[in-house]
Amino acid sequence: MPGRYPSLTWSVLGLISTAAWYITATRIARIVGMRDAASAIGLLAAVLVAITLWRWALADRRQTALTHLRCPQCDAQLRTEHEHARPGGVETGVQRWRCEDCGFEHTEALTCPRCAA
Ligand SMILES: [Zn+2]
Ligand SMILES: [Zn+2]
Repeated sequence: MPGRYPSLTWSVLGLISTAAWYITATRIARIVGMRDAASAIGLLAAVLVAITLWRWALADRRQTALTHLRCPQCDAQLRTEHEHARPGGVETGVQRWRCEDCGFEHTEALTCPRCAA
């Protein structure tokens, strides 16, 4: 069951990548002669990597929650609706997930096998 926070795997991955990028960016900065700014540049790179990973983790968690029909915000049961594509009207099918407990809503373009071609 998806928790409220990214999984341990993501946290470990995040820590390792962030540290690796800090070291790499610091080294690059020293090589190009920015010795004074090296640690600041390293820190900036690390923060950017951490933010990117955090976003990925959130998207990953939401996708898992949607697959299990659980609300990513409050863990209640999600309701799904599918709107088929209609020739001459809506070109792609739309899948909608909705939580009646907290109002969470997510839509994605999804053309199912039964959507009109
Ligand atoms: Zn459809
Ligand atoms: Zn909810």
